[in-house]
Amino acid sequence: MPYDIYVDRELCIGAATCFAVAPKTFKIDEENKAVVTESGHEDDQTILEAAQSCPVSAIILKLKESGKQVYP
Ligand code: SF4
Repeated sequence: MPYDIYVDRELCIGAATCFAVAPKTFKIDEENKAVVTESGHEDDQTILEAAQSCPVSAIILKLKESGKQVYP
């Protein structure tokens, strides 16, 4: 997986569309906010779609190799 995945928990409103799109990559914790799971992530395209599905753009994707932010 070329992405480092972050969730901005200040922005996250617990809409859970990320979880609906990529349930192996995101889970919703007891504060009703998304966290990135430790392992078993979906493919890169699905993770990108999950990030794009977030209504508040709380999911940040950076390339592992360069650290360059690719989304949002
Ligand atoms: S889609 Fe966005 S707002 Fe909804 S749970 Fe995921 S990160 Fe949070």
